[in-house]
Amino acid sequence: MAGKGNENVTYVDKSGKRLDGRKVDELRPIKVDVGVLDRADGSAYVEWGHNKAIAAVYGPREVLPKHMANPYKAIMRVYYRMAPFSVPEHKRPAPGRREIEISKVLSEALDAAVLTERFPQSQIEVHIDILDADAGTRITALTAASAALADAGIPMRDLVAGVSVGKAGGRVIADLTKAEEDASDAVDIPMAILPSTKEVVLLQMDGILTKEEWKDAHELAHKAAEKVYNLQKEALRKRYESAEAVEETEEIAETKEEVVE
Ligand code: UDP
Repeated sequence: MAGKGNENVTYVDKSGKRLDGRKVDELRPIKVDVGVLDRADGSAYVEWGHNKAIAAVYGPREVLPKHMANPYKAIMRVYYRMAPFSVPEHKRPAPGRREIEISKVLSEALDAAVLTERFPQSQIEVHIDILDADAGTRITALTAASAALADAGIPMRDLVAGVSVGKAGGRVIADLTKAEEDASDAVDIPMAILPSTKEVVLLQMDGILTKEEWKDAHELAHKAAEKVYNLQKEALRKRYESAEAVEETEEIAETKEEVVE
């Protein structure tokens, strides 16, 4: 929720630096790891600044209750949850209105990416837990979820990549922290795209921008999404290159065993 904060804070100083030293278009450090859970069909862990999210994918599998099934496509069931310890004021464990809303928008964004028509009568479950939160968690969750879907081998048009852009202290900035989201003039716009077609699959807005500011914010979002996309692809490449290396080693070991026998 944007816009509750202190009017005396300088969110962008004269040299163009923000509270944490970043430039207006700079993202927080992002780390993506895939294949982090043994029991899920696909998984990913993302650290994005102080945000930490873990995603687990199951399916495609049978829809229960059966009457919820769609004869033409798989249904995406997405569960975004914040751990009670992820925020300063210990959150109630039961999912609240905000988590249900975020699960819905994430499900719509992922539905646009997954080739759901290939799996009628089935469901694909995506569980995302936020372990640590500092604004931008829905985008951190989406980054993890789409990498986890790819890790599960689910056919997709593209990965989903995004960022939150907006405004604090009168300046258009990319990737707002909680301190920036709390600026009195804050605007927060989580946005996600399918990078190969630039199709926008998530766009929300809290606050008001001029047309010019929106143009700048939109441009920042596309550039940032491209960076996130590259990190996701790199993480998947790393995972499958190392998986191939393990397979090759196992094959060599098997051949050696056969020779010994
Ligand atoms: N937040 C919090 N307690 C809550 C919900 C949110 O402290 O119960 C914080 C948390 O840091 C979160 C931020 O507020 O990342 C911004 O929340 P918002 O609803 O804008 O979603 P987000 O930016 O995380 O996608």
